[in-house]
Amino acid sequence: MSGLPDHLRRPPRGMRDWLPPQFYALKHMEDVLSRVAESFGYRRVEMPVVEHFEVLAKKAGQEVINEIYYFKDKAGRDLGLRFDMTVPVARALSYSLDVPRPVRWYYFTKVFRYDEPQHGRYREFYQFGIELVGSSTPRADAEVLHVLADSLSAAGAVDYVVKINDRRAVDKMLEALGLSAYRDVIYRALDKKLKLPREEVVAVMTSGGVPRDKAEKIYDMTSEMPLQEAADHLTRLDQSLGAHYAKLVKYLDASTGLGGFRFDMSIVRGLDYYTGIVFEAFAGEYKLAVGGGGRYDDLLELYSGIKTPALGFAIGVERLMEAVGLHNVEKPLDYYIYIFDDEAYPQAVAVAKKLRSAGFSVAVELGEKSLKEAFEYILKIGTRYLIIIGKKELERGVVKIRDLQKREEYEKPINEL
Ligand code: AMP
Repeated sequence: MSGLPDHLRRPPRGMRDWLPPQFYALKHMEDVLSRVAESFGYRRVEMPVVEHFEVLAKKAGQEVINEIYYFKDKAGRDLGLRFDMTVPVARALSYSLDVPRPVRWYYFTKVFRYDEPQHGRYREFYQFGIELVGSSTPRADAEVLHVLADSLSAAGAVDYVVKINDRRAVDKMLEALGLSAYRDVIYRALDKKLKLPREEVVAVMTSGGVPRDKAEKIYDMTSEMPLQEAADHLTRLDQSLGAHYAKLVKYLDASTGLGGFRFDMSIVRGLDYYTGIVFEAFAGEYKLAVGGGGRYDDLLELYSGIKTPALGFAIGVERLMEAVGLHNVEKPLDYYIYIFDDEAYPQAVAVAKKLRSAGFSVAVELGEKSLKEAFEYILKIGTRYLIIIGKKELERGVVKIRDLQKREEYEKPINEL
């Protein structure tokens, strides 16, 4: 067969096409998640897919920088595709200084990462997320976690688990162990704790110069615990941190209950810009994180020069859809109008117009198919009603309607439609 070779018929590596049933599943997710964000007073934003490379690279960390789709435009500008929405939002707020604080914004849009594609890991994917900018209180932390929890429930992941940690706690622990100089390699090792066996995690640390006994100690000290125990645990590391978490636990208990939350000191997250609370969300049996987020109190200052506390989360939409088994949403056609010849065409479009203005979807036969062929076609695409306007019907001012769901047929005067 001629035409394009197979690999060119498929989208570029790590990307996908969204045909109507998949697109409507995505759209359903968008509607459900947007409703949650809107209900908390968050307002939607969109930013360019293309961003200044310098803005993207500012606080991403080398691992993320390596994943940026980088290019020069025809004028030689260094540009890149956004790898998340937090960075463009922070840039937009750096000149939108008159937007009253706290700012509550959300997005549902595409981001890009030049990563090695595998199950649940794409190069182009959708993120839904919120940013709460201008507050450093434990109530702000609780609100973002509340929106995250409600988003996961609304999407059908009622058995979610959000694992919470705080980078300040990890830093305090490293300080106490005299290991602050090894922060980067220890973060990298902890980030792998949910994916790799103990030996390998310890090996990441020792290969970075951390003494073996201390690497093992860190591994054991960063275990998971109920969120209720976090405040006491953190108070031992730092008084004010403990007090912050005592409040956070109280607020979360009042808003969502604590059932879906755990404290886990191995959660550190990959991006360099986090400064405080960090968390990752899991849904049921699905192995990969469906969402993550945290506090990034220094990021906005890098762009605007003004110190501005902020936090947010992002949900990986494809992963969440996979986790809750939402793949296809069929959208049947409401009416298909069949006519035998051009004589009935004015009548057909008049009927179609009437039905469309009443909110129905209507397609008119293009004039190539027999009634039998048209019937087979509309069964395949999914159709509720077939309207037939023949010579006899035309003369009598009626249409024949076949209800394909109830398998009934009846006539109706055109002016009663
Ligand atoms: P991150 O801020 O990198 O943790 O991203 C937030 C969420 O986006 C993650 O929890 C994932 O659900 C999702 N995500 C991240 N990277 C990818 C990817 N390459 N493909 C699909 N989803 C991703």
